[in-house]
Amino acid sequence: MNKALHIHVTGIVQGVGFRPWVWKTATELHLTGSVRNGFDGVRIELYGDHIEQFLERLRSGPPPLSKINSIQTLETEFQALEDFRILESDPGGEALQQISPDISVCDDCRRELFDCGDRRFRYPFINCVNCGPRFSIIENLPYDRPQTSMREFNMCPDCAAEYSNPSDRRYHAQPIACPVCGPAVSPENWQQEWKQSIKAGKIIAEKGVGGFHLACDALNPAAVSKLRKRKGREAKPFALMVPDLEWVRSVCEVSPDEEKLLASRERPIVLLRLKGGFQTLENIAPGLSTLGIMLPYTPMHDIMFDLFPHPVVMTSANYTAEPMIHTNAAAREKLEGIADLFLTHNREIVNRCDDPVCAVYGGQTVVLRPGRGTAPVSFPFPSDETILAFGADMKNTFALAHHGQITLHPYIGDLENPEAQQILERAIGRELECFNVDPTLIMHDLHPDYFSTRMAETFAARREVPAIGIQHHHAHLAGALLEHGLHGPAIGFAFDGTGYGTDGTIWGGEAMLFSAREFSRELYLRPFALPGGDAAVKSPRRVADALLYQLDPARVAGSIAVQLIESGINCPMTSSVGRLFDAVSCLLGICEKPTFDGEAAMRLEAVADRTETGDLQFGIREKEIDWRPLIADLLDEKEKGVGAEILSARFHNTLAEMVYLCGRKLAEKHGDLPWVFSGGVFQNRLLVERIQRVVGSEFRLCFSSYPNDSGIALGQALIGVKNGH
Ligand code: ZN
Ligand code: ZN
Ligand code: FE
Repeated sequence: MNKALHIHVTGIVQGVGFRPWVWKTATELHLTGSVRNGFDGVRIELYGDHIEQFLERLRSGPPPLSKINSIQTLETEFQALEDFRILESDPGGEALQQISPDISVCDDCRRELFDCGDRRFRYPFINCVNCGPRFSIIENLPYDRPQTSMREFNMCPDCAAEYSNPSDRRYHAQPIACPVCGPAVSPENWQQEWKQSIKAGKIIAEKGVGGFHLACDALNPAAVSKLRKRKGREAKPFALMVPDLEWVRSVCEVSPDEEKLLASRERPIVLLRLKGGFQTLENIAPGLSTLGIMLPYTPMHDIMFDLFPHPVVMTSANYTAEPMIHTNAAAREKLEGIADLFLTHNREIVNRCDDPVCAVYGGQTVVLRPGRGTAPVSFPFPSDETILAFGADMKNTFALAHHGQITLHPYIGDLENPEAQQILERAIGRELECFNVDPTLIMHDLHPDYFSTRMAETFAARREVPAIGIQHHHAHLAGALLEHGLHGPAIGFAFDGTGYGTDGTIWGGEAMLFSAREFSRELYLRPFALPGGDAAVKSPRRVADALLYQLDPARVAGSIAVQLIESGINCPMTSSVGRLFDAVSCLLGICEKPTFDGEAAMRLEAVADRTETGDLQFGIREKEIDWRPLIADLLDEKEKGVGAEILSARFHNTLAEMVYLCGRKLAEKHGDLPWVFSGGVFQNRLLVERIQRVVGSEFRLCFSSYPNDSGIALGQALIGVKNGH
């Protein structure tokens, strides 16, 4: 019997070897027909007897890099055809396709890379349909070579033959290249230069996939200090790239889940717990118990480690808070005086993209910075509306919803930096152009002074579409709902550093009853003053004094904090748990003057004795979670000579207990709802694991995979659609 079926597949189905897979499968099953890329996914026409088997294989074993969102089928008229064909892309219409992130070099390519008989032997830009650059080289969609920065390179006859042969693993691999026709590293003798320089303790600027790195020998303390000094980076930890998992195991505790994540094709930086007593890594992550490690992800890295099989510092090339450099010209200009050697290449980076930072907490992967490999990333979205969400100012990323999906863009940076603002504006422009859509609704943070708020308002005014501000912590929690496929109601815990509240104070210690539509602030940390506003965010001492002032003003009489509090000038009130961490870190003598954002809290977590089970007192009165007994208790114990390791652990235990009691209280009132967690404080692994332990299986716990502000845009967009604007 002759059957005929039209199949429409959406998701990440272009530029990932999807059509050759369809061609091969259809041919094997003796089906005729065609496959073609469109703006709305891939369309397949199938004629023959084994259509069911084809669908079965499509569902159970599609090509490895594809990510299918939907498969729609429609029976059609049978046509007698000779064979199965791959047709040209179908232009026109609106783009529904997704942009694939960049993918680390695959095993097949790595094998060829070190095969001296292969024509791509030691060629640093080897790639195939299963690996190589994507997002970083794309100028527009559909994803075809002329719309990428590979346009500059004319394929040689050998590459062209592979590119057009459906049975070749480089069939339609858009960035296909070889030493004859493709990009090249400069200087030409880079391998020799690399080996000599890295061994000699020099700093090397290396152009990678999404931008430049600065590299040096991680086992050479003099080189590491030199890099810190030249980069203006006092204590902020450096990420390491190590040759293989063996090296990771020798330096860090690593679970099977973490090994899997390290070796995944996304190849993120994974935050791991340092092994006790590992002394060799001096000055890499001073005062911290964790280290960010990644495995090599480009062919160039593989060659580098073949020449120098030791851990290497691999840090984004920039100066202090500036965004990562991605052009050869900027590297030469800005890294002069920082780098001793430049390894550049002539494949233009169209979209800059930082290395992603991930961790595994209690079995769940947490994304601390969405970047190369892990972003852009799309989620199903419960509306077809086109919504652009600007996110927040710190760790900014934006999100674009259209055609029932939402795409989170890679990390942009902190918008205080004018360069980051420009990058955000350009990235939004490019993404709208790529998808060929016009937003009908603009979302932003409620904070009136955020750059992102002002940019969103200007953008909306120019296009005459509405712009809506969303409370920071409601957005945090709604983002977690979206990730978990929920709509609410739910009980939410937003423990955070800073977020503008609806009452004009700074929030960050909220327990909410909320949905994607609305929220009520049920319980919150007893407010305290932030003497000097933003200056207090950078000074745990001031925050600690503000807390002590509420306990016993005499204790801190005359301090700057108290002078500010008593004058009432620039002393906003806050319920921030992030600041409570800072204050405790300071009171325990761990960190008084942080040199980077989050340092005080990270070091407090680092010292905690994980075997300690005791806790501290606290109170819940009406809507207020009272920290005063906690601080009093902490100081008493400290006076008795109890060490910072024990008290830090007790502080973490107390917060977990606080969550449990607040959650129970809300559950009694509102019923058995899921508990949702988001906000920067939940980057703290110890706290997350303690909460999991205390609550156990009594309630459903949903932790956000994007706990810091890089998940804000997702929540903003979801709230936008649910409010029916
Ligand atoms: Zn490959
Ligand atoms: Zn070639
Ligand atoms: Fe936040």
